[in-house]
Amino acid sequence: MSKINRQIVSIDEELCNGCGNCVAPCAEGAIKIVDGKAKVIKEELCDGAGFCLGVCPTGAMSLETREAEPFSEAAVEAFQSQKTAAHFELQKCFSCDRDEMAAPLLACRKQGNSVWVCTKCLPALIHG
Ligand code: SF4
Repeated sequence: MSKINRQIVSIDEELCNGCGNCVAPCAEGAIKIVDGKAKVIKEELCDGAGFCLGVCPTGAMSLETREAEPFSEAAVEAFQSQKTAAHFELQKCFSCDRDEMAAPLLACRKQGNSVWVCTKCLPALIHG
């Protein structure tokens, strides 16, 4: 497929510490940890929406506009169909320890750290 000019996630390897926080937020499965660094494994899986950026504790992630394979819904569907729990580590709420199978999780920043909070604990976080 021919490349197009579009927005896509960029990862600065110098800043990436390999924590893996960005892997689960990517519903399309575009990011993996390879040799201790996050990588966009297939351009066609990255929609360039940037939901992963907010969970990076080091500022290694950004959006750039460059020549890339077009985003492909078909490639995402193929990835989703072969995805199993064994392919990813379940994220947990920092407050109650519920995992993402028990309640939806949202990424947030708390006292300088990137954490996950479940929708059940979110109201208490907001209102104290
Ligand atoms: S969240 Fe940031 S530091 Fe952690 S693996 Fe992803 S790019 Fe690297």
